[in-house]
Amino acid sequence: MSFNIIFFGPPAAGKGTQAKIIEQAHNLRQLSTGDMLRAQVAEGTELGLQAKAIMDSGKLVSDEIVIGMIADSMERNKKAKGFIFDGFPRTTAQAQALDAMLAERGEKIDMVLELQVDDSALLSRIEKRAKEEGRSDDTVDAMKVRLEQYRSYSAEVLPYYKTKEIVYGVDGMRSIDEVTIQIEAVLEQDEAA
Ligand code: AMP
Repeated sequence: MSFNIIFFGPPAAGKGTQAKIIEQAHNLRQLSTGDMLRAQVAEGTELGLQAKAIMDSGKLVSDEIVIGMIADSMERNKKAKGFIFDGFPRTTAQAQALDAMLAERGEKIDMVLELQVDDSALLSRIEKRAKEEGRSDDTVDAMKVRLEQYRSYSAEVLPYYKTKEIVYGVDGMRSIDEVTIQIEAVLEQDEAA
């Protein structure tokens, strides 16, 4: 039985941190389009070169690029029990493509976890992460754009899943452990996880 989750939330909400914890605990496979893009930039591939300027500005890279990366990763992980999609989908076209790719495997998105964090807390988390990880898009200017983008794409993508009644809110203002406990409680409602 498969189980596929989307971790949804603004930049620095803790999606990556929680996805890695839940990945281990439930033997799922985390697929982060942000991590995949940063790997391409680090390797200096053609795709990475194209994506870097867009990422640094805080805008979204094309649907074609991210859908292609997700399709490849799913193909390479045919035996996975399920996926945690982290930072994907961010547009309706991406959400529809994801549904189609999962349908080919006889699967679907079972749950969308929306990590909710206040803007002020996000800004201080970004400052901290900028010092620790040195991400080139963790700047005040890029963050403003990323938050605006989030507002607009969440208004587009969340309703797509809300009509399916699979969106669950998680209070992302709490400590890492407390957020994990909340996520586990939501997952327990669904025995397949
Ligand atoms: P993230 O690590 O998820 O915050 O992503 C970092 C940056 O990568 C974003 O600001 C976008 O420029 C790009 N990116 C990541 N995922 C996507 C996606 N699903 N669609 C479009 N752009 C994305």
